[in-house]
Amino acid sequence: MKVIYGVDNGFLDFPGQYSITLFFSGCNLRCSYCYNLEVVDGEPVIEFESLQSYLLGFQDVFKKKSIYVTLSGGEPTISPYFNMVVDFLKQNKFIIGMHTNGLVLPKMKNIFKSVILSVKTPSDNIPSKLIDIDSYCDRLLKSIDYYNKSPYKELRYVNILDQKEWVGDVLSRIGDRLDQSWLVKKVENFLGEKNES
Ligand code: SF4
Repeated sequence: MKVIYGVDNGFLDFPGQYSITLFFSGCNLRCSYCYNLEVVDGEPVIEFESLQSYLLGFQDVFKKKSIYVTLSGGEPTISPYFNMVVDFLKQNKFIIGMHTNGLVLPKMKNIFKSVILSVKTPSDNIPSKLIDIDSYCDRLLKSIDYYNKSPYKELRYVNILDQKEWVGDVLSRIGDRLDQSWLVKKVENFLGEKNES
């Protein structure tokens, strides 16, 4: 059974740690600036058995169980193979991180050591009738609560120029839940630009 699109490893994805990154195919958004469209549109190509051997091989090489693995994509949480891969990681004591757009919550709780939640207002080519702003903000607020329990969390905000009418609204609804000064500054910049135009 083919479960993921690809793997990578290095120091970029888990703060301060060498980690393996797993790329799940598919996404529930299609951002105009997406740099991973081949993953978003791609099909899984790596067999589950091959992935298991690859990951366990790292434990052998490093002679320890605490290998860091970041789930990315695409959007990992919408993959039909997400739970299967996470179960394997948990059973084998890997330390799990994730990159997500926050619109779908995983069923399991308190398993992520690190989460980067990238808030992305849908691009024009994602018609707002597919997801209205109320349910969009509601999902993000639930995600912020959920991932706040992770020891390391980073909430990124990506401003999409082609959907400006959503930006101020989304940020006014979720902005008070955020404590990252860079984000607040970005909001202020945006609102400043908006007032000037
Ligand atoms: S949420 Fe991320 S992976 Fe999905 S389309 Fe947007 S940038 Fe690409």
